[in-house]
Amino acid sequence: MMLHEISPAKFHNEYFPYEARKEDCFIGCRKDAVLLGESEGKIVVPTVGEAMEAFRQEDRDGEPVPELSEFRYLFSVDRARFFALTEREVSPFGSYDWKSLRYLRVTKPLPSAFAASVGQQLFAWYRRTRFCGACGQKLEHAPSERMMHCPACGEMYFPQICPSVIVAVRDGERILLTKYAPSHFPNSTHNPKATYALVAGYIEIGETPEDCVRREVMEEVGLRVKNITAWKNQPWPFTSTLLFGFFCDLDGDDTITLQEDELSVAEWVNRADMQDRSADISLTSNMMEAFRLGKDPRSV
Ligand SMILES: [Zn+2]
Repeated sequence: MMLHEISPAKFHNEYFPYEARKEDCFIGCRKDAVLLGESEGKIVVPTVGEAMEAFRQEDRDGEPVPELSEFRYLFSVDRARFFALTEREVSPFGSYDWKSLRYLRVTKPLPSAFAASVGQQLFAWYRRTRFCGACGQKLEHAPSERMMHCPACGEMYFPQICPSVIVAVRDGERILLTKYAPSHFPNSTHNPKATYALVAGYIEIGETPEDCVRREVMEEVGLRVKNITAWKNQPWPFTSTLLFGFFCDLDGDDTITLQEDELSVAEWVNRADMQDRSADISLTSNMMEAFRLGKDPRSV
């Protein structure tokens, strides 16, 4: 299962200006971690009431305890509403401690891991969207949608998502696998040296996802491709990306020319030599598994 495949639980991100209740879920965040507990190997999310009590008990040099109205509504999973404090620093409290984004990639249950990682993504966006990039004025929350706006010049800021492609290049029974150069993803949620990936890249202004597939494959490994076929998509909260998966076939010469500032390895791997990646929750692993098991679009 991919991270966002949380059925039968349902993710509701329609925006409502809900005021927090003490029993609601609290996503406490910092730049690269979420405040969570764990019980019997499962994530435990703190409540708004527990967060307020922690502020009350901490000596914060006269900093007032946050009012319920300070908690910002994020989204719901089923009937559980999630809130964050976007203007405050939080510290670990009770049995809750900082959990890295890497932890959220491997932990269960999936609806809680998804909620925590998407909550962290929204929190991170709020934290870096406080001043207008056009005129420098402090931004204000729009009353009825998930948007920040500038009272001085009217500029509007919506949650930022970067569309990207993940590309599985095939040549008969072989697939092109890559490893990132360690310098390329200093804040990655996985260890780039240990993990095979697929060709991937951000969609640029003015190009379609398919244009991006052709450009990225040429840039990263110097190959031409054909039969570009859409696969699944994935919202990937750890890097604020929306991933579009594509399968395609090698067109012509199979000689790899590595883009060394981005990749450390790119090689053709036979289907029979691929490792089982079924436990991983990423689209990349989903696509590798589809190829390994002969379930990619060509074979269906
Ligand atoms: Zn402005």
